[in-house]
Amino acid sequence: MANINELFGCMVFDSQVMQERLPKDIFRQVKKTREEGVPLTREVADVVANAMKDWAIEKGVTHFAHWFQPMTGVTAEKHDSFISPTDNDKVIMEFSGKELIRSEPDASSFPSGGLRSTFEARGYTAWDPTANAFIKDGILCIPTIFCSYTGEALDKKTPLMRSLEALNIHAMRILRLFGHTEVKRIATTVGPEQEYFLIDRKVAAKRRDITFTGRTLFGAMPPKGQELDDHYFGVVKSRVSEYMKDLDESLWRLGILAKTKHNEAAPSQHELAPIFCAGNIAADHNQLTMELMKKIAEKHSMKCLLHEKPFAGVNGSGKHDNWSICTDTGINLLDPGKRPHDNLQFLVFLCAVLKAVDEYQDLLRMAVATAGNDHRLGAAEAPPAIISVFLGSELTEVLESIEKSSDYISRKKEIMETGGVDALPNFVKDTTDRNRTSPFAFTGNKFEFRMPGASLSISGPNFLLNTAVAEALSQFADVLENRGDMPFDQAVLQLLQDTIRAHKRIIFNGNNYGEEWVKEAERRGLCNYRTAPEALPAFVAEKNLKLFEKHHILSRDEARSRYEINLDNYSKVLNIEGMTMLEMVHRDILPAVTEYIGTLAKTAGAKKQVCPAASCETEEALIKKLSELSASLYELAGELEKNIAAAKLVEEKQSQAECYRDTVLSKMEQVRIVADEMEVHMPREVWPLPSYGDLLFSI
Ligand code: ADP
Ligand code: MG
Repeated sequence: MANINELFGCMVFDSQVMQERLPKDIFRQVKKTREEGVPLTREVADVVANAMKDWAIEKGVTHFAHWFQPMTGVTAEKHDSFISPTDNDKVIMEFSGKELIRSEPDASSFPSGGLRSTFEARGYTAWDPTANAFIKDGILCIPTIFCSYTGEALDKKTPLMRSLEALNIHAMRILRLFGHTEVKRIATTVGPEQEYFLIDRKVAAKRRDITFTGRTLFGAMPPKGQELDDHYFGVVKSRVSEYMKDLDESLWRLGILAKTKHNEAAPSQHELAPIFCAGNIAADHNQLTMELMKKIAEKHSMKCLLHEKPFAGVNGSGKHDNWSICTDTGINLLDPGKRPHDNLQFLVFLCAVLKAVDEYQDLLRMAVATAGNDHRLGAAEAPPAIISVFLGSELTEVLESIEKSSDYISRKKEIMETGGVDALPNFVKDTTDRNRTSPFAFTGNKFEFRMPGASLSISGPNFLLNTAVAEALSQFADVLENRGDMPFDQAVLQLLQDTIRAHKRIIFNGNNYGEEWVKEAERRGLCNYRTAPEALPAFVAEKNLKLFEKHHILSRDEARSRYEINLDNYSKVLNIEGMTMLEMVHRDILPAVTEYIGTLAKTAGAKKQVCPAASCETEEALIKKLSELSASLYELAGELEKNIAAAKLVEEKQSQAECYRDTVLSKMEQVRIVADEMEVHMPREVWPLPSYGDLLFSI
């Protein structure tokens, strides 16, 4: 392996390269843009573009691409070469500031939820100077946002960037109240832990369901699953270890801080965690990580599955979104700290998160609602579909003491007036057993949102969380800025007390997997949207539209378009799954079973001829069993086909998604039960699909 220091970020046009290659004043201006959000001029962009091009050409690059994140959830790029014709029939390599800043990829086929019709096509990409350009597959990639001619966001990055701006504005108001004049900006820090499965490519290729849907639609449980817990954190097999090494190196080249890797709970399941970085960059990096995970798996003759639930009966894959807020001076605002005054500030940010999560629990649930994640949330290994916050016993007690002691404020006031030691205790990282069942857990100095599914872009959960917290902080700042004569600390305590009282129902430190919690949550009035079609309308709930408008995150049209795209995606995924299932029933499973029944009948007939007294009970019983199952499978497949056809015709998108869920998905479950029953009664060589055992233990 090459020297890691040299390797790390070698394919990134990062600040070190910029410092080396840009004139001092230009570099200073780029830095100012990055750190303070000051817009870049065309002149500066020209110089940066030229330096970028020279750097890229030295690395053998001939093309550039505006790299963006449309609503499909995967990234997109269109390649243009640097060539430009000269008078003497030759070319020179050129890349202007204009090309760097803006491009018009058209790209009219991406989902826009009605925001643009193809005849008025024009989609624009615009450079995000806060993210580094990088070289991928010999292409200079420029991270960009993607919007329509009229400026509406058509991608996942734009609302994320807008939300970071909103959070910055209101967190800064609070920090100013606490006297932090040295802080210029805040940003979120995000570290997404990514789970995935690796399957041998040849074995996976024999399953059309994996090819078309990324998950298995059939498959009886193997004799060995994850019950022995012998895979979790176990020795990594050499083939996987080679893959992980290759992946780490490729990520490091792109400046991605891949840090931790280990086996996960299910056989063939693994995890990769990066070191956290700024929220916007973390989202870019996670997209690249997912892309490279798949690509490098191919190189190693494996298939990487990022589906939320590739296999029934064993763990699904999630993506834990570790999230905090940090100042440009390096203070983690969710770090309890040692000095009491810091504690008070910490408590304000902590309570802002509590308020945000409680008031916008529907939005956070919506953020993770996809067809794939529906199979995972609420299953025994993933958090339930109910949002709650785990704080740990120590912090919960602190909040309780603030809330309950009616004399807390006066006691505090007294202490302050007498100059005594602050009454608030020092916090240490919660030493109690960490709660792995909570969907939203405080883990020492950050929150961990555990509901996002493995394939989801983290932009959605993050922009919604950022926006909800920005709103809570803006309300806090309104109260504190208008406190009148009340001493600041007293006003803060009053605010904390009011907030805890109003939002403590969102705190739950118990077992989130238990059935009692579902009842308890209902009693507390928390929402429980079990499926995506139930959760998605939150996108266009009036209170949420107001929130988006107030903070300039999404216009009503933009929010509505996203809601429609999500609904549409849900229906399309179920349509593809249903159609794949039908194809497998009619073209793989039924022919194999019918043929096997024929073989059994022939065997029985031959037996009788040779030895009329021989028993054919086994053959007869099997023929009867399999014939009945075949008839039932054929009938159910017919019903599934009808249900799909009917669901396709439903026009209104919400009803259509519900129709797919209630008639297509439920019928698919019935089809599967019958087919899985057939599988266990068929010889291994005759069954047309690799079994769960073959898939899960293929490497
Ligand atoms: P845990 O064991 O609680 O999951 P780790 O220290 O293993 O915690 O961190 C898990 C992930 O959380 C890593 O990706 C890490 O970079 C990230 N992380 C740690 N601190 C922060 C922070 N302040 N903000 C955002 N992410 C963080
Ligand atoms: Mg973790």
